[in-house]
Amino acid sequence: MQNNEKKLMKTQYEFDNQEYIILNKCPHCNLDIHPTVQNTYYFENNTYKVYALSLTCPSCKRDYFILNDLRDHSKEKFIMSIPKYSFNENALVKNTSKKFQNLYMQSINAELLDHEDIAFFGYIKALEVLIKEIAIIEHPEAEDVILFSNLNACLEQFHATNMHLFSKKLLEVLKNDYLYYHNTEDFHTSSELVKDCIDYFLHYLELLLKTFKLNNTSTDK
Ligand SMILES: [Zn+2]
Repeated sequence: MQNNEKKLMKTQYEFDNQEYIILNKCPHCNLDIHPTVQNTYYFENNTYKVYALSLTCPSCKRDYFILNDLRDHSKEKFIMSIPKYSFNENALVKNTSKKFQNLYMQSINAELLDHEDIAFFGYIKALEVLIKEIAIIEHPEAEDVILFSNLNACLEQFHATNMHLFSKKLLEVLKNDYLYYHNTEDFHTSSELVKDCIDYFLHYLELLLKTFKLNNTSTDK
């Protein structure tokens, strides 16, 4: 999934013979960018060596900070971005409810801060909200059933065709989320599968809304 669009990730960035870890996307406009350095700031005490890069996005021209911990033995350099990553301008996410947007954005920021457990469950909950919103658009008469069904029942009953596109592994992850997660070392793959599924349904929702619009325009004539 997401062949033409790169996923949000941490990436290496060289500046002034120093290697930093930054985000591959602008936290304001979400575009894949190679930002420009405006300035660097440095804070140090006996324990920490914190660098703040002040960066500007070449696309939206807005600036932001990325903080890194550059102690020699620090295995995780990235501390945070200011502002935190947001989806305010993402067209696909704009189609969704505030409830989904909050869950999805908080999960992404939790993952960026290495709170992977919370992120994992957040993504699953975000997926549930998203697939229920889509199911209600397609089957408004079944709104009560949809709202009271669990994630898997809803996927099987209302998104059977879509789910054929995914590996059995995804259903396993979703079906047994808690137990599965605790019994596997394969946490990263499981988390990526859930994120791919969210991406897929965001694209699907956009197509669905476009089709609805086209159908409404043709009946108007
Ligand atoms: Zn930008």
